[in-house]
This record gives sequence, structure tokens and C-alpha cells, in this order.
Amino acid sequence: MKLNDERRFFRDSLREFLEEEIAPDVEEKDQEALSKEEVIDYQTTMKEQLGIGFSPDVAEDYWGDLAFYGIGSEEISRVWPSLNVTLNMSFPAMFVEYASDETKDAMMGKLESAEIIGGLAVSEPKSGTDTVHLGTTAEPDGDEYVLNGQKTWVSNAPIADVMLVAAHNSETDAREMFLVDQENSPFETSKLEKIGWKASPTGEVYLDDVRVPRDNNLSVMISNAVKEGNNLGEMLPYPDSVVDLFFELKPLNAIFAFMRTGMALMATGISQAALEDSVEYAQERESFGKKIGEHQLIQEKLYNMKAQTEASRRLAYHAIDLLSEADPDARLMSSLAKGYACEKCNEVTYEGIQIHGAMGLSEEYPLERYHRDARVMTIPDGTTEVQKLIVGNEMLGMSAYS
Ligand SMILES: Cc1cc2nc3c(=O)[nH]c(=O)nc-3n(C[C@H](O)[C@H](O)[C@H](O)COP(=O)(O)OP(=O)(O)OC[C@H]3O[C@@H](n4cnc5c(N)ncnc54)[C@H](O)[C@@H]3O)c2cc1C
Repeated sequence: MKLNDERRFFRDSLREFLEEEIAPDVEEKDQEALSKEEVIDYQTTMKEQLGIGFSPDVAEDYWGDLAFYGIGSEEISRVWPSLNVTLNMSFPAMFVEYASDETKDAMMGKLESAEIIGGLAVSEPKSGTDTVHLGTTAEPDGDEYVLNGQKTWVSNAPIADVMLVAAHNSETDAREMFLVDQENSPFETSKLEKIGWKASPTGEVYLDDVRVPRDNNLSVMISNAVKEGNNLGEMLPYPDSVVDLFFELKPLNAIFAFMRTGMALMATGISQAALEDSVEYAQERESFGKKIGEHQLIQEKLYNMKAQTEASRRLAYHAIDLLSEADPDARLMSSLAKGYACEKCNEVTYEGIQIHGAMGLSEEYPLERYHRDARVMTIPDGTTEVQKLIVGNEMLGMSAYS
């Protein structure tokens, strides 16, 4: 992935916006989960000022070049990882355009004005890593499905308008995805607290006889669109080559390949922030009558941090290229990048704290937040262990996890 003029301009504009509009309030705002109003405020501002988002008028340009998604994930996370998760995990909202008339009537206005919040609900209390054996069921009943089950650790759950829910369809005996909207198919949620990503609202989703139109089944949405002469490439604002992956991989695997690449760049953003702060501190702080940056052991730490950050970014950029080319190795590379970068940002932020000494542990400096945010990275979108098993499976053609 090369930074051409357009991408560089986007990166610089975004960086300037984040430094001026977002960074000054991060420490205060990151104390607790963002409210729905706050998220809508960020979404509408970023759409208007930077063209970021899922509204049809900006989505085609923003998502039409996956490099923007990659740059956006890194830059936003360099300043505030919680905001990045909250914005990106809304992606199921873009399926509203292709859903049932009921869902469209209720949600299209919000999608167009960037006031919609989405979520992806796969994980369950008894099934996290194991996304194959889900307890949530979808029973067909006339023109609807009836969904029952419980989802957990779902980003945006407490504030979501729409949720893409993975459930076992008894009719097809397969795992399928269903778009559930709060207005027509109300679902209950609750909040969960965690060590990092403090401002990203996380929660449980309770599906108790929730009735969803058949047209909100993701496979039905896709086949309806194909019947109407569209292809998925015209439906979703991705490059055509990326859309091929939805057909070649199962849709959930394709979705995870995107999300994992974004997570790798999110981890890179956290590492980059810790590295920059550590370089600055090493140039200022003195011990034994000289700057700590003049001690060889500090230089070694900075060398390692730099190498890990650069390697994370290059792996993730390579995954973006493979996704953009619909390369068969895209799934392997997104898992490799996610597994590597999310582990390495823990090492980088650990060493960043070490360079800052006691001040690294203090809330006066952001290092402790970087480290708490980094600690979360190795769990969502598949743990590091699972990324290793996916890479193993892709290389060997032998699954260690089915
Ligand atoms: C902040 C946060 C946000 C999240 N957001 C979302 C979201 O938006 N949507 C969503 O659906 N989910 C979300 N999740 C859930 C996340 O995807 C799961 O937590 C994750 O997949 C791990 O599942 P688990 O926690 O149940 O761990 P478990 O599956 O119980 O695993 C426990 C341990 O066993 C290991 N393990 C399990 N199976 C194997 C195996 N076959 N081989 C080797 N080791 C194995 C795991 O690596 C882990 O170390 C989120 C989680 C967090 C923490």
C-alpha cells in the first residue's frame, strides 16, 4: 500500500482534525463509555469534515479505497482507540439500504444523516472463539424469523440502532446473519466494563422471541439484489475485487478479514503513539547528568519499539493490498497481521512505560492508557491463539480448531 497524494492528503487532514478537535478531550472522555449522543456527534462531524462514514453519500469514496480504512484505523487509534472501535464497529448499518422495507423506513434517514449506530453480534456466553457452535437460533415463521439467544461482549450494543446477529437457521441448518433493527424488532441490552477501550460501549444483547423479516437475512439480501440485476459490488461500497472475497470466503470470514486488518492498524496506531511519546521523553528527561536517551539501554528499547511498530504497519498494509486484490492469501495475511501487531503493541507500550519510569504509571501521562488499550487488543475479533490457528490452517490445509 503506497501513500499516493490523495491518501497522504487524507492522512494529514485526519491527523490535523484529531490533534485539534479530539486529542484535547481524550483523557477526560475516556473515563467511561460514550453516550449515543456523543457518538452521533463524532460521526456527523467526521462525515462532514472528512468524508468518513457509512452514509451512502460518502461511503463509496471512503470504502472504495481500502487504504482510507487502514489509514483511518491507525490515525484515529493513535489518538483514541475507543473512538476507532465505536466508529468502525457500526459497519452493519450499511446493510440497511438492502434490508426489508420496514427496516429501510425506520433506519434509512438515520443512515443518510450519519446518526445510525450499528453492531456485530457473534460472541455468546458459551461460545466466543467457537463461532461455529452458536446457541442463538433463528426459526422461520411465515415471512419472519424468530430469534432467541444471548450475545455478549458486543461493541456498541448499549447504543446500537441495528445489529447484525449470527444465529443458527433451523431451516438451512447453517450459521447465518440477520439484520435486527431496534424499532421494528426491539432487543434488550446491558453494559459491560473492561480494562481498556473504556469509552467504547460494550455490552450484552438479549434476543427473546425477536421477530425479524425474512428480507433481513444477509443471504436473502444478497440474492434479492442479484435477482434485481445488481451484484454485491454495486450493493456495497467496496472495490469489486474485495466483493469477490464475500463469495469465495464465507461472508463472516470475509468480514473478519476486514476487521482484523483494521485491528492490526489500530494496534499500530497505539504503538506509534507510545513510540512518539517515548522518543520525546528520552530527549528531555535526565539521569546521571545526561538525557536518558543517551543511555544505550534506552536506545535499544526505542530500536525494538520502532522495529515492532514498522513491522506491524507493513504487515497490515500488505493485508490491505491482498484484500484489495481479492488475493487468496488475504485471510492468512489479515490474521497474521492482527496476531502480530496486537501482541507487539503490548510490548511497545510496556517499554514505553519503562522509559517513562514512574510517570509512565501515572494518569498524568497517556502511557498507562495506551497500555490498557493495548491489553484489550489480543482478544476481540479472535484471540491471538485463533489467529495462529487460522494461519496454520491456511498454510497447511489442516484445521486445528474445527
Ligand atoms: C472489548 C471487546 C470487544 C468485543 N467486541 C465484540 C463484538 O463487537 N462482537 C462480537 O461478536 N464479539 C466481540 N467480542 C468478543 C470476542 O470476539 C471474544 O471475546 C473472543 O473471540 C474470545 O472469546 P471468549 O472471550 O469467549 O474466549 P474463549 O473462547 O472462552 O477462549 C478462552 C481462551 O481459550 C483459548 N482458546 C479457545 N479455543 C481455542 C483453540 N481451539 N485452540 C487454542 N486456544 C483456544 C482462547 O485463545 C483464549 O485464550 C469483544 C470482546 C472484547 C473483549
